[in-house]
Amino acid sequence: MSLEFDQNLEKYTEVILKVGLNLQKGQRLLIFQTTFASFPLELAPFVEILVRKAYQLGARFVEVLWDHPQIHLIRFQHAPRDSFEEFPTWRRDVKLEFAEKGDAILGILASNPDLFIEQDPDLMDIRRRTSLKHNKPFNKLISKNATNWTVIAAPVDGWANKIFPNIAPDKRKTKLWDTIFDICRVKQKDPVSAWNDHNNKLHARRRFLNNKQYSTLKLKAPGTDLVIGLPKKHIWIGGSEKSQNGIVFTANLPTEEIFTLPHKDKIEGVVTATKPLNYAGSRIEDFKLKFSEGKVIEATAGKGQKFLDQFIKTDEGASRLGEIALVPHSSPISQSGLLFYNSLIDENASCHIALGRAYSPCLENGEKMSDEEFMNIGGNMSLIHVDFMIGSGEMDVDGILENGTSEPIMRSGEWAFEV
Ligand code: ZN
Ligand code: ZN
Repeated sequence: MSLEFDQNLEKYTEVILKVGLNLQKGQRLLIFQTTFASFPLELAPFVEILVRKAYQLGARFVEVLWDHPQIHLIRFQHAPRDSFEEFPTWRRDVKLEFAEKGDAILGILASNPDLFIEQDPDLMDIRRRTSLKHNKPFNKLISKNATNWTVIAAPVDGWANKIFPNIAPDKRKTKLWDTIFDICRVKQKDPVSAWNDHNNKLHARRRFLNNKQYSTLKLKAPGTDLVIGLPKKHIWIGGSEKSQNGIVFTANLPTEEIFTLPHKDKIEGVVTATKPLNYAGSRIEDFKLKFSEGKVIEATAGKGQKFLDQFIKTDEGASRLGEIALVPHSSPISQSGLLFYNSLIDENASCHIALGRAYSPCLENGEKMSDEEFMNIGGNMSLIHVDFMIGSGEMDVDGILENGTSEPIMRSGEWAFEV
C-alpha cells in the first residue's frame, strides 16, 4: 500500500475516534460487529490501527469482540436444523456491560452482502429473531443514546467484489477503501474540521424543521404517495448529538440525514423502495408497501418476498414506521452512483424510512419515558429497526403546518428551504 493510503487510513481512524465516538480520555472502548454482520479476520490490520490510535487518544482499555462470518456460514451448512435458537449469551453480556458502564461503543459493518444469500430463509429468520431477542436490552440503551456510540464501514473482499465487479480483482478492495475515505471526508485537508462544518450544516437544517413542528409530511415520487403524521414535540436529529452521559458524538459515519419519528398510527398511502434492502444477510428488491392507520396492509417484493413477510411479522411494531429521514439527492454518496448493498452507506444516499423501533431522543423527553408513555404519544416500539431507501431525484416532500398550510421541504430530491 502507498504512503498516501496509509495516511488516509490513519486519518480515517482519527475521524472515527474523534468525530464518530469523541472518545474521552480514560474511557473504555468496545469494538464489535453489529447485530447480524460479523467482521472477518482479514480486518485485523485495520483493527490494530484503531486500537493503537484509541490508546494514543487516552483510552483506558480497548476490547475487541471478534466474530468471523465464515464460522456462521459453516454453522448453516452443518449444524443440526433444530439448533438455531442456540445463542452465545456471553456476547450479549459483554456488549451490555460496556453500554451500561457508559463506555464508548464502536460497531464495524464489513460484510459480504452475498455470504448468506443461498441459506434457508426459515433458519435465517430463527437466527435473526434469536439475536434480536437477546440483544434487546443492549439495542434499547443504544437507541436511547445512553453512551457515545458509532457505526462505521470497512472493506472486505466479498463486499468489494460485489460493488466493483468490473475492475481488476486485486484493485477492488483498495478502491472500496478509497471510496469510503471520500464519503467520510477523510481526504479533505483537515477532516475533523470538515466534519464540524458538515455537522453545523445538518444542525441548521434540523433547527429549521424543529421550529416548524409540521404536523404532517407528504412524500411524492414515482410509485410513492405517502402521508406521514408526526407526533407533537417531535425532534429532528441529524449530525452530531449528545449522549445521556454528556458526550457529543456522531452515530454513523458517513451521515447525511436529518431524521425524526413518524406517528406510529398515522401513516397512509403507498411507498416504493428505490434501492434494494440488505438486512440480516438477506436481500429484498423492488418492493412496495401500502399503509393504513400506520400499519403495513400490503407488502410486495420483486425478489425476497419471504424475507419481507418474515421481518414485517417480527412483532407488532415491525409493520409500523419508526423513522423518516431526509437526505438530498446531491449527497456525495448518491453522486458516487454506486450501490453499496449496505444500509449504513446506502441510507445516506437517499431519503429513507425505517420499519420498527423509533429513537426515543426524537421525542421531547423521550429518553425518560416508559415504553407505554412513548407509545401513547405515537412512538413505535419493536425489536427491529430496518431502514430502506425511498428517495430519488424525483421526490417532493411537503410539510403541513398545524393550521393546514403546506410548505415545500424538498423539490426534485433537493432541499427547498434556505437556512
Ligand atoms: Zn436514518
Ligand atoms: Zn434508521
